[in-house]
Amino acid sequence: PSSLPRAAMVARRAAALAGAPRMVATPPAAERVWTPGSWRTMPIKQTPTYPDQEAVEEVEKRLRAGVPLVFSGETDRLTAALAKASEGKAFVLQGGDCAESFTEFAKYGGNNIADAFTLLMQMSIVLTYSVGPVVKIGRMAGQFAKPRSSAVERAKNAALSLPSYRGDIINGEAFDEASRVPDPERMVTAFTQSTATMNLLRTLATGGAMDLTRIQDINLQFVKDTPAGSRFAEYVRQVSGALRFMHSCGVPVDSPALKAAEFYVSHESLLLPYEEALCRPGARDGGKTYATSGHFLWLGDRTRQVDGAHVEFMRGIANPIGIKCGPTLDPSELLELLAILNPDNTPGRITLITRMGAGKIADGLPPLIRAVQAAGAVVTWVCDPCHGNTESSPSGYKTRNFENVFQEVRGFFEVHKREGTIAGGLHLELTGQNVTECVGGMQALSHDDLARRYETSCDPRLNASQALELAFLAAETAGG
Ligand code: PEP
Ligand code: MN
Repeated sequence: PSSLPRAAMVARRAAALAGAPRMVATPPAAERVWTPGSWRTMPIKQTPTYPDQEAVEEVEKRLRAGVPLVFSGETDRLTAALAKASEGKAFVLQGGDCAESFTEFAKYGGNNIADAFTLLMQMSIVLTYSVGPVVKIGRMAGQFAKPRSSAVERAKNAALSLPSYRGDIINGEAFDEASRVPDPERMVTAFTQSTATMNLLRTLATGGAMDLTRIQDINLQFVKDTPAGSRFAEYVRQVSGALRFMHSCGVPVDSPALKAAEFYVSHESLLLPYEEALCRPGARDGGKTYATSGHFLWLGDRTRQVDGAHVEFMRGIANPIGIKCGPTLDPSELLELLAILNPDNTPGRITLITRMGAGKIADGLPPLIRAVQAAGAVVTWVCDPCHGNTESSPSGYKTRNFENVFQEVRGFFEVHKREGTIAGGLHLELTGQNVTECVGGMQALSHDDLARRYETSCDPRLNASQALELAFLAAETAGG
């Protein structure tokens, strides 16, 4: 705030000279002092209005006194891995639920987390075999807050409308007035669930669940019996054959690299009181501030305003960050964002997650790529083929068609090839469960199948068979 008056004066004078009708009161980001709480002075979207501000502050205090979920050293390693992906030396696989849920966590006792982890491992085996090293990132251990296109929701065939559900970290999904009131205690529940999730993921990643020398054991029960499962079995045969061959040649196959996986966690940085409370100084460089709620945080397509609170928060944290790039993102706006969020052009710092829609990617992606190239900005390009392809099923369900999802992935690879840039990875909404939320795929799920097992708390997820199938198709497309 100390530099604000002078900068504001300069901006106002510039506006007056230009005869601008509006007052420009926001100084350029670089001139403002950043703190974990400096977002509070900026306009904010998609934020809950808590009925009791004192209760919010009480929760923030408890979170500030709590343990970090992730550590700065791990976070820096992810930045380095993402920098590799920006050069085409690694491929990013980021995936998980649209929204993690308290009830699902209680219902499955961690099995849903373990299954999603196994699925991501299967997908990364396929991609490693065909494309190269895979940077594995879950939408997990903090993916609770949801941006909504409407502030209110109306029940089907009912006159009653209530405030929208904003994710379990904010309010409840049940369609009644009391559930929809934002409750700060939910931040503590989300944090506790995230610590348990993180603990499970760390055990899975290093405790033998990802031991490639026992690759036959890496599978999901229901996927085994699907066409995707049989195709995966073929990969398993080839990988174990290669390992046996190496072993016969005297190459040690008990390397830690084969026995453990590096696994990172990520979520949308939406609920800023939670994010701010979990900021900590770096272990090696105390001058840096890390968000310790996850290794990788991203800005949603609805909260990436250059003068907004979410961009302000992201500007100062040392984590690698993502920006969701939808069809409404102007190339010049993107360059402004890059200037604010990565002024030093650090490789691995910025991942651009494009989510255009199958029909829009061919025209929508090239202008963004060209602007970034012309500016010389280093970014990692990742494709989210889910969020631009959400549709309403005739049966009333929110769904996605597997064909459109794959079309967008194919378009992503084609455009990057044409532009001479690197298609760096995939960002997916998926679950290890045998749900019926997206139509299509080799299982040929139809609109009539959706009612059978539709469980998501928010957007429709690819089930394990569909996700694995997408990994095969992506591997084929990327491998040429
Ligand atoms: C999401 O990833 O769940 C999401 C809301 O995406 P977007 O901001 O791209 O709409
Ligand atoms: Mn979603």
